[in-house]
Amino acid sequence: MRALAVHSDVLVVVSRVWQTTAALVRAPAPADAPSGPGAATTPREAFLVDSPVYPDELELTAQVAGQAGFSVAGLLATHGDWDHLLGPLAFPQAALGVAETTAARLTGHSGQAVREMRAFDAEHYVARERGPGLGDVQALPVPGKLELGAGEDAGGSAPRHELELHAADGHTGDGMAIWVPWARVLLCGDYLSPVEIPTWHDADGSRTAYRATLDRLKPLIEQADWVVPGHGGPIDAARALAIWREDVAYVEDWALPIARRDATQQALHERNRAAAGA
Ligand SMILES: [Zn+2]
Repeated sequence: MRALAVHSDVLVVVSRVWQTTAALVRAPAPADAPSGPGAATTPREAFLVDSPVYPDELELTAQVAGQAGFSVAGLLATHGDWDHLLGPLAFPQAALGVAETTAARLTGHSGQAVREMRAFDAEHYVARERGPGLGDVQALPVPGKLELGAGEDAGGSAPRHELELHAADGHTGDGMAIWVPWARVLLCGDYLSPVEIPTWHDADGSRTAYRATLDRLKPLIEQADWVVPGHGGPIDAARALAIWREDVAYVEDWALPIARRDATQQALHERNRAAAGA
């Protein structure tokens, strides 16, 4: 697993499998916070968005959060694919917030994510101490805003720090992208990946919805310092825009990007074509 800071309030971890990313996002320091030695690690409320996959990576994510002063009070998942839903294994006390569309998917296909995780674990001989389970799932309205850090100041005088939630369906029928305004970071879920072509072959995925989500993401990329796709690690805005253009060309005209046309991507491409009836 790789771990890197793209901002003082955003740490990204990248799993060894599928380069699945997760981000720790912390409320910014109050303007009157003391500076100097130790101030940087004074814990502040944080969310974990998505998850790494292997048990040691989940454990390490919890350790990194603790050491860096990210006090994880909640979990978020960009969409309902199982490899993004493992946050509760690292932070069993925290509730998992998902888009209403994802909550509906998880309820409608009850147990599917857990079954898929078990199948992966069986195939790769992965042993987990803690049994799988999503715990308490909360449905969030999307588009919408989500406050972070409110728990620390009951007086209401502190500035509000809100994550923006944007609809991001197409890869699957559910999902959201998360914009972190104070860090200018976009957590976009399974879009804009440098390692994986756009895919919509899973249940309820849609080529047209995918194209519409790319348009919804573009103004956010243009404001971003960093974009964190669901697979492949953080990329800067210039690279994200280049990938955006490649992905539009792929979704509209089936043009496989030069850097993403190995055998695995070709297989995904065939599944996309079958799903689109092409
Ligand atoms: Zn994924």
